[in-house]
Formats: sequence, C-alpha cells, structure tokens
Amino acid sequence: MSSPVHYITVTAPDGEVIGYAWGDATDVEWINRKASSSSAYDAGMEWYGRVREAHERGLTPLGVLNLLSHEPGVGPVTEAPDVAAIEELARIVTPADDRRLLAQLDRDDAEAWQELADAFDALTDEDRDVKWGGGQKSPSGAIQVPFPMYSQPLHRAVSALLGVGAVTPEHRWVDSPMLQVPPDGRLRPADAVRAATTVVRGEKFSDGTIDKALKSGLLDAIANSLRTWYADPDADQPSPDADPDADQPSPDAAPPVEQPSTAPTPQPRALQDAPDPTPSMCKFCGGSPAADVTFRAHRGLIIFFGFKKMDGPMCMTCGLAVYRALTTHTLCVGWWSPFSLFVFAPLTLVRNLLAVRKVKQLAAPGPGMLGPRYDPGLPIHRRPRAYVALIPVVWVLFMIVTGLSGGV
Ligand SMILES: [Zn+2]
Repeated sequence: MSSPVHYITVTAPDGEVIGYAWGDATDVEWINRKASSSSAYDAGMEWYGRVREAHERGLTPLGVLNLLSHEPGVGPVTEAPDVAAIEELARIVTPADDRRLLAQLDRDDAEAWQELADAFDALTDEDRDVKWGGGQKSPSGAIQVPFPMYSQPLHRAVSALLGVGAVTPEHRWVDSPMLQVPPDGRLRPADAVRAATTVVRGEKFSDGTIDKALKSGLLDAIANSLRTWYADPDADQPSPDADPDADQPSPDAAPPVEQPSTAPTPQPRALQDAPDPTPSMCKFCGGSPAADVTFRAHRGLIIFFGFKKMDGPMCMTCGLAVYRALTTHTLCVGWWSPFSLFVFAPLTLVRNLLAVRKVKQLAAPGPGMLGPRYDPGLPIHRRPRAYVALIPVVWVLFMIVTGLSGGV
C-alpha cells in the first residue's frame, strides 16, 4: 500500500521547523511538528489553511507543493518512501524544544520551589494509596462511575507543580504519548515538564491519571527531576544508561521507583484511549463553554473566486478570532466580481454577524487543554484591510450618481 510521497519542510524565520506539507497522487496534507512552540503551532494552522486552499483551487498535490516551495522558509520538494517517514520527522524533538520548555519554569520564585520540595516530602503512604469512590450499584441497577479520591496533601503536591510553571501550554500533550519512567528512574528536566503537563492536564480528561502516575513512579520522577534541575540547572542531564552513582543527586532525590506493571490498579486506560473531547469544548484550544458555529469568508476576485468556511465548537476567544479574520478577509477581497458585490459578500457578512452573536453570548472560556488559544487581535474597524470594502461602495455610489445625472 505504501507508495512514495513528496513533501516540503516549512521553517519559521527563527529557524524552528513548523511542519511538513506532503502530497501523494490524490491528496495533499499538512503535519504540524509535534514538539513545536506555540507560535510555530499557530503558523502551522495558517499553513494548513494555505495548503488546503491551494488544493481546492484545483492544483494537483505536487503542484501545490511546487507552488508553496517558492515561499520564504520553505525547502525544496523532496521524496519520502511513505507518509510514516514524514510523521517520524514531525516527531523529532530538538534541543531547542527542550530549552523552550525549561524556560517555562519560574526559577525566580524561590517560594514556589520550596513549596514543591515540601509538598512532595510531605506525601505519606496513605496519600499515595489513592482510594476510589463510586462503583456501587444504585437500586435502579445503574453503576456509579468510579472516581479517584485524592488527599489534600496530594492536591497540594500537584498544585506545587503548577506553581513552578511545570504545567505549560508550550507542551501540547494531546499530540504526544504519555512519558514512561526511564529504567534508572530519572527523567530529563524537559521531559519532566512534558510529563507534568500531560499528567495534570490529562486528569481532567481521564480520572485517575494522577493515581496512575503516582503508582508508576512517574509523579515522583517528575518532582525529583525538577528539584535536581532547580538545584543545578547546568548539571548534565541524565541519560538512560548513566550510572546513577556517577554524579551526586541530592540525598532525597532518588526514591525507589516502583515497578509499573505489578500492582493491579482500577484506573482507567491510558490517555490515548480517552474518549474524544466533548463537543462543548473549543476545537482549537479545548476551553469551554463553546458554541457550535460556522464562519465564512468569500473571495470575489474574478480568477481566485472562492469560499472558505471554518466550523465546529469554538469558545468565545477563538470564535471571535476566527470571526474577525474571516470577516476582514471578506471585506478586503470579497467584492471584486459582480455576483460577489451584490450577493456573496453581503450574504457572507450577514451570516458571520449572526454566528458571532452566538459566541459573544458565551462566558469567558476556562483553561484550554488542547493547544494555544487564538488571539482575537484588533476589532475589525481597526484593521486597515477591512476598509478596502469602501472602494466598491464608493464605486457603486459613483455609478448611481453618474447614472442619475445622465453622464454629465
Ligand atoms: Zn478556544
């Protein structure tokens, strides 16, 4: 089944690889680099749109890649044995990715780091032995969904991870598998940030994620790695085959790591098996509440005539951002054919206005979990591109006036 595919590599001005566009005989797709920065991720969303747009314009997949390969920051069209090879490229984690995650940690907040140490040191065996509630049968025969009952000290330890900045939207955990504790029990500091983000965010989607991380030793490995990094950020990062006695971990930094596989635990399956996010969640950032809306853009240029639409559940912030972007686009390029001027552009604008009312009624979204939230940016009336719409309006007035005055 696997046949050669072609791809282009798209790089941001600062040198970070944003992602890859690839095409086979029939289709062209975009893949974001999994460990990319938030800004590269945002840029990737735009590239996704450009790739789709070029394809919908009728270009062949290879034609799309050739066209885009002339853009700044884009490499030449290259052949790969199959899509899996490109997906593998997209999974590469660079030293710059690690540095960016470590930069999220708040080194200056000494209190937060002390709290992290105190909170984890205070955990007792009882705190670690998480009890589960629920599971009992009601008179009607329904079984109540089991849920973990975390102790107050455990809540404190988890909050302490947030306190030092180890839970960050710079790690898009949904795109990444759950990290495992290395054989020597020592996580690299950047991996500790990744794991902390995955565990803490993951708990909101899948009850028991923290319990599981506690039982596998991951939660302690996270805390120990972070504490070691705080004590000496320039220390060599542990590698799986390093001798644990070779460099000096602080005396309290190396607890026995429990075998992940032995004790049977009632926790739900891994994150990857979690059910799809509910529709009330914003499709971009994961925040809620969200409303199911459709925004449209119309391009009325005689040659590049087209429609674009973005739909799905969106929170107030992302919805407003999409509304402003697509409406401004329509105001700028929506007028330049007769049908567009009198039918499509006005219709698009009215439909967007109706749709934006739905997202404006929403409460401000809670914390996002899927990825960075769109920035709504400036209101439309402060975007110069929107005023291009005045040109056709003035032109129509001009035609009416000259028509009424009989051409004199
Ligand atoms: Zn959102």
